[in-house]
Amino acid sequence: MEKILIIGCKKTMDDVCIGCSRCLVAFNRRVSAFERYKDMDAEIMGILNCGDCPGASIVPRLIQVKLWNMPLDEQPTKIHIGPCIADNCPYYDDLVTKIQVKSGIEVIEGTHSYTPSSIFS
Ligand code: SF4
Repeated sequence: MEKILIIGCKKTMDDVCIGCSRCLVAFNRRVSAFERYKDMDAEIMGILNCGDCPGASIVPRLIQVKLWNMPLDEQPTKIHIGPCIADNCPYYDDLVTKIQVKSGIEVIEGTHSYTPSSIFS
């Protein structure tokens, strides 16, 4: 069973991108970056924001995810980086490197691909 933790931009999650619904819809439909789980048991076990600019608190936040979920016997096996980070974060390289180095699990860029390419056309 894959247990997925999505990490997104604090300035965007549930604010600009209301309810993180596009990530969840893409997962439920197993499309975009979640297509890899099409014929597998997989669950989203958490949606975590980066902790705000410049991403300095992402490592302690990952530790909190571990501690908070230990009594539940739930730990992520995969991390997905939301497009709110991938497309917009000026601290992307440092932020994602820290996640990759410290998490010890596979980090995959991308979740949904519902972001419109243009606004008025
Ligand atoms: S560090 Fe990047 S992902 Fe996090 S709040 Fe700032 S812009 Fe968003």
